[in-house]
Amino acid sequence: MTTDQIRGHRSILEMLDRALSRSRMPHALLFAGDAGIGKKRVALHLAQCLFCLQTPADELTCCHECNSCKQMAAGTHPDLISVECPPDKAILPLSLIIGGDDHRGREGVCYEMSLRPMSGNRRIAIIDDADKMNAESANALLKTLEEPTANYLMILIASEMDSILPTIRSRCQLIRFGRLSEAEVAELLLQQQLADSEAQAAQIARLSEGSLQIASQLLDDNLEELRVSITRHLSKKPFQPQVFAQTVIQAIDDVGGNTAAQRKTANWIIKFCADFYHQALQHASGYNSGIDSEQIRKFVAGFSGETEDRIEKIGNLLDRMIQTEEQIDKNATIALCFESLSEDLRGIQMK
Ligand SMILES: [Zn+2]
Repeated sequence: MTTDQIRGHRSILEMLDRALSRSRMPHALLFAGDAGIGKKRVALHLAQCLFCLQTPADELTCCHECNSCKQMAAGTHPDLISVECPPDKAILPLSLIIGGDDHRGREGVCYEMSLRPMSGNRRIAIIDDADKMNAESANALLKTLEEPTANYLMILIASEMDSILPTIRSRCQLIRFGRLSEAEVAELLLQQQLADSEAQAAQIARLSEGSLQIASQLLDDNLEELRVSITRHLSKKPFQPQVFAQTVIQAIDDVGGNTAAQRKTANWIIKFCADFYHQALQHASGYNSGIDSEQIRKFVAGFSGETEDRIEKIGNLLDRMIQTEEQIDKNATIALCFESLSEDLRGIQMK
């Protein structure tokens, strides 16, 4: 990975570069920010630059050619200790920090960080999901943080800062990561061949909230199919409330009986609808959003009357989506919300 492949976070890379050039790299860093915006990528890049055998240690650069760089690319560098919460666990297992019952104190991050470097001149630990550590793990880690050996670097990564113990926070240099821009997400989706076309990348990036993780969820086949189906129903003239409501309720039923998952799908549906109307509103107002969609153009052209009338009606459709979002947040019955929404969407367009 080169710095070119790290989208955004330019100022953070510059800050890390400055810290290296002044030999002021702290022993512990805490990378904080939303999930899926590239914190771990930056952590791995920093580790690779520090391990690289060819480039100066006081620069945030690496050669991609040397043994260390090759080991980093393969994920086999012996001086990098990287742990994260397994996908099926809510809490980062204590065994990853201090070893399992049979190997307590002889395995895990704390033990690994007490060892001498195997190949290079330092040991680096990356603890992803540090916000999922329980108090026992955090306290064990604290001891290691309090007694840093000369050449070690610990990088903690967290998306929920409130879940990090103040004692841990106070021993790390906090680095806050901002969200990615829409353009950055779109570019990454194309670069990683996650999106099929520029139009799809742009569309998904709009909905991603600056997170590549949310973008990847959106590209999950079922959600992408649902988005396409929803926008097709919304753009129909005349709007067919029953068909729309059926589609939506079916999609929510398909999730199964888990209420939290149903709400999540309902929120996605609202997001898809709101985004559709938002684009229509921009188009009706003559604002060039850079997205040229035939569907949106036809939808807007389908409204009779003057520009102001169209803008008002589309604005009302968008407002109705926001209302539905609030109702669902307040635990209203999802099916009922969407049934009454569907009727109202027709009513607004018929006026
Ligand atoms: Zn190298």
